[in-house]
Parts: sequence; C-alpha cells; structure tokens
Amino acid sequence: MNSNIQKIKELALINKVPIIQDASLEVINSIISKRQVEKILEIGTAVGYSSLCFSTNNCVKRIDTFERNQDMYNQAIQNINNCQMSEVIHVHFGDALEVDISNFSHDYDLLFIDAAKAQSRRFFELYSPLLKQDGIIIVDNILFHGVKESDENISKNLRGLIKKINLFVEWLKQNEEFETIFFEGGDGLAISKRKC
Ligand code: SAH
Ligand code: MG
Repeated sequence: MNSNIQKIKELALINKVPIIQDASLEVINSIISKRQVEKILEIGTAVGYSSLCFSTNNCVKRIDTFERNQDMYNQAIQNINNCQMSEVIHVHFGDALEVDISNFSHDYDLLFIDAAKAQSRRFFELYSPLLKQDGIIIVDNILFHGVKESDENISKNLRGLIKKINLFVEWLKQNEEFETIFFEGGDGLAISKRKC
C-alpha cells in the first residue's frame, strides 16, 4: 500500500471512521483484479480510503462514490487530491437515496454498498439497474462487528439495526434475480451476481 493511503488509514482508525477491514479489502481487490473491473460505484465514501485502495488496481478506470456528510466529503476530496487520484475517483456530495441518478451510465462492473446499514436493501434496489449484466454487488458489514440480535445489554436502536441487517440477508438469500455468497472474514461481506 502506498504511504499516502497508509497515512489516511491510520488517521481514519484514530478518528474511528468505520473504514473497510483488511480481510474484506483483500477479497474485493482480488475480485477487482480477477474480473478486470473498470468502473466502480460506491455508496459511502467516508474519507475516501476504500476508493483509494480500489483505485490502486491498474484495471480500475473510474470510481463514482457518494457521501452525504459534509465533513467526510471535504476530507475525501482532500485525500483524493493529495493522492492525485481525482481524475479516477469522483465524489458526489448528497444522500445516495435522494440524488438524481438518471444521468448515470448503466455500465458499472462493481457496486460497493457501505453506507447506512439499515438502508442496504434500498441501495441495492435503487442502484442494481446501473450494473452491467455480469456485474457484482458487494455489501459490507453484514456481520455488524459480531453483535447478535439476541445479545443482552444492547440498546433498542442497535437491536433494531441488527434486525434490519438480518432481514436484508434473508431477502438476499431469497432474491430471484441475484445469487449471493457470504464472506465471514472481516466484518462480513455479501457478494451478489445476477443468476444466469
Ligand atoms: N467506504 C468507506 C467507509 C464508509 S463509512 C471505507 O471503507 O473507507 C459509511 C459512510 O456512508 C459515512 O461516511 C456516512 O456519512 C455515509 N452515508 C451513510 N448513509 C448515506 C447515504 N444515504 N448517502 C450517502 N452517504 C451515506
Ligand atoms: Mg464498511
């Protein structure tokens, strides 16, 4: 990993920005390289760490990524400029559920969903039409730090969130258009592609 990205990672960890875990990143990077992914759409930029990591694969030509938090957006722009990647990584400011995507092309090879965890299904439904026929959708944090719905001593809000993530996983398993495999390393990934 180049030293700029390493510094961004270290600062993000200090500031408790929920960046992608190493094991998950390894899986995604190997998919990117094996499938020669050129165009990525990401929901949830944070400070630009995952986008920058994806962009280190030579095959990646363009990343569009959405961020609704002004402070995160500003940091991402700065980090991407510092890494001289602003021609590859395009950060869009706004809520990915409200932004006008009618002008976006329908040729993404990879959709990476890593934003508000309760909304993963809505992101999946809204953005999957922008995917190429043989494109891949990856959703992060399916295990949610190992917290279980049945755990005692968790707040009502957290229990509600875990319940929504579990419902999303069940919905994915029964989805008629997409088939999904689950990666249990890192914080858990769901990796979906269209059924043939
Ligand atoms: N992908 C990043 C981490 C993203 S953390 C990485 O691995 O480096 C999740 C981010 O999603 C947060 O910064 C949050 O502000 C953003 N987010 C949550 N809901 C969103 C929405 N509806 N639209 C756009 N961004 C959203
Ligand atoms: Mg994540």
